[in-house]
Amino acid sequence: MGRIFLEHLGGTRIFSCASCETPLTNRAELISTRFTGATGRAFLFNKVVNLTFSEVQDRVMLTGRHMVRDVSCKNCDAKLGWIYEFATEENQRYKEGRVILERALVTETEGFEEPIGNDS
Ligand SMILES: [Zn+2]
Repeated sequence: MGRIFLEHLGGTRIFSCASCETPLTNRAELISTRFTGATGRAFLFNKVVNLTFSEVQDRVMLTGRHMVRDVSCKNCDAKLGWIYEFATEENQRYKEGRVILERALVTETEGFEEPIGNDS
């Protein structure tokens, strides 16, 4: 297998995989903290990188029926949350293409003021 290519969004307040610290997204991409996942509190993000996606699943939630994919860390394969592919309720459409990360499965750390250079 080839080496895994990891992206980095940069920014301050980085959200990383709790298992391997792979950077996933940052505070600027955070849309809402008022979601609930399997492990409790979950966050909705506009964009998250370094993920792998499961097959599409049909899931009925409190807010209606959605087509979702589970998302996992590209580096260590830990499950992190899910992505909304399609929402059947009109008022839930804003979630399409957005990603849920479960609070317990990610760590939030201070990022760097400058864009990441070629350190190490
Ligand atoms: Zn990981």
